Amino acid sequence: MKILVADKMADEAIQMMKKKHDVVYSELDPDQLLNEIQKYDAIVVRSRTKVTKEVIKKGENLKVVGRAGVGVDNIDVPEATKRKIPVVNAPGGATISVAELTFAHMLSLARNLSKSDSSMKNGLWEKKKLKGTEVYGKILGLIGSGRIGTEVGKRAIAFGMKVIVYDPYLSKEAAEKYSFEIVDLDFLLKNSDFISIHTPLTSETKNMISTNEFEKMKNTAFIVNCARGGIIDEKALYNALKENKIKGAALDVYENEPPKNSPLLTLGNIVFTPHIGASTNEAQIRAGTITAEQVLKVLKNEKPDFCVNKEVL
Ligand code: NAD
Repeated sequence: MKILVADKMADEAIQMMKKKHDVVYSELDPDQLLNEIQKYDAIVVRSRTKVTKEVIKKGENLKVVGRAGVGVDNIDVPEATKRKIPVVNAPGGATISVAELTFAHMLSLARNLSKSDSSMKNGLWEKKKLKGTEVYGKILGLIGSGRIGTEVGKRAIAFGMKVIVYDPYLSKEAAEKYSFEIVDLDFLLKNSDFISIHTPLTSETKNMISTNEFEKMKNTAFIVNCARGGIIDEKALYNALKENKIKGAALDVYENEPPKNSPLLTLGNIVFTPHIGASTNEAQIRAGTITAEQVLKVLKNEKPDFCVNKEVL
C-alpha cells in the first residue's frame, strides 16, 4: 500500500513503514496535497500539514490518518470519523521529555540559572544576589498527575521532595504507588513551594490559576507551566509576579504562541522556553515510531492502541 509522510519525521519511523509498504516522504503544499491524496492509503503528519475536510474527501483510498504527536487540531477528525477512517496518534511519546523540561525549570528557578547566566554575560559576579534554594525537603504540588505529572512527581521524590497532588481523576492506589499525597486544590495552593501544572486545557482548567489562586500561594512559591497556555491566567500571573505575591515562574506554553508583546516578557522573575517540551530527538523518534506502529496495525486490519476516534474501529 502507499503511505504519504507529509511532514518531517524520524527516519526510524519511515524505515519501519518502508519494510511493509511503499512510503513517499514529501512536504506537499495544501494544493499539491489535494491533488495527490487520492493515490495514498495512509497519510502521516506532524503539525505542519492540515488534513482538512477537503483532503479527507479527496482521499478516496485513505484507510488511516497518523499524527506523530498528541494534539489532532490539524486534522478534521469529525470528517475522518464520518468516513470511518481511524485517526491514530502517539500520546505518550513526549512524556519523559516534558517531565525533564519541567524539572529543569524547577531547578533553574531554585538556583537562578537564567539570571546567573545573563548576569555573567553582562560582566558581573553577583554571588550574594544569586543565592538560591534547595528543592530537597520542599513540597511540590502537582496539578494534574497523568502521564507527565506522574513522571515529574517520581523525579521530585528522587530529589527528596514531598509530592502533593490535586487531580480529581487520580485513584488513591495510583497516588500511593508513587508516595504522592492526594489533597484538594486549596491545600495545594497554600502549602506548595513549587507548583507544576500537568492538566489538559479544558473548560474546567481554563484560567484555573488566577488572582484568587495566586493570593493563596506562599510568597516564596515558584510555579511552572509546561502543559498548555491558558490554564494560568497570564494577566493574573503578571500581577502576582509584579507584586511579588510569588517568587517566580517558568513557562513553556502561552495563551498566544509566540507571546508577542506580552507584558510578562518584561519581568525579571520569570523564565521562558518556546514550547519545547516535546523537542528532543528521543521524543520525536518515539512519536514517529509509535505512530508508524499504529498506522501499520490499521493497514493490517488490526486494532490500533492509540486511536482518537475509537468509534470507527
Ligand atoms: P494525561 O491525560 O496523561 O494527564 C492529564 C491529567 O490531568 C489526568 O490525570 C487528569 O485526571 C488530570 N486532570 C484533568 N482535568 C483536571 C482538573 N480539572 N484538575 C486537575 N487535574 C485534572 O496528559 P499528559 O500526557 O500528562 O499531558 C499533560 C499536559 O501536558 C497536557 O496539557 C498536554 O497537552 C501537555 N503537553 C505539553 C507538551 C509541551 O511541549 N510542553 C508536550 C506534550 C504534552
